Amino acid sequence: MQTTTHNFIFPTVQRVTSGFRPPERPDHHGVDFAEAGYHEIKAAATGTVSRSYYSDSYGEVIFIVHNIQGQIYETVYAHLREGSRRVIEGATVVQGAVIGVMGNTCDSHGQHLHFELHLGRWNDNKTNAINPLPLLGVGDGEDEGGGGWTPRPPIEFIPINRHNTNMRRMGVRGR
Ligand SMILES: [Zn+2]
Repeated sequence: MQTTTHNFIFPTVQRVTSGFRPPERPDHHGVDFAEAGYHEIKAAATGTVSRSYYSDSYGEVIFIVHNIQGQIYETVYAHLREGSRRVIEGATVVQGAVIGVMGNTCDSHGQHLHFELHLGRWNDNKTNAINPLPLLGVGDGEDEGGGGWTPRPPIEFIPINRHNTNMRRMGVRGR
């Protein structure tokens, strides 16, 4: 019998402001979490930092590769606060470890975390990106190898707002 397990925890506040590849934003390959104030960003699962740098699109960004029961995943944490990255490439991080602070660096309009989850490794065309929300649970900080998570509370979807002004540049028209 298949049961749903949440191998990943929410990397920050659970307030979702933009979902994964919505019809009006098909090249949004991740999920945005946003809330005003100081919010730490946590590793969604235990893994190894594959990149930690200042990107001219992602801003302050961290990539982490995970091996969960033989399946490789890669997570991306973008637009972190200037100078807040706490891990370097090659570092091992445990689930729940604080890796940075929510910010608004580079291609971002309003403070938020842009979070991507890839089944396999990240690539330029983001063909491995999947919707992370169904896989996110509220962990206790321990990697239990799947299962053991408390059920995740309902996701609150926030209507498109100023965090999503990217849409203008994407040439979205009509509804
Ligand atoms: Zn985003």
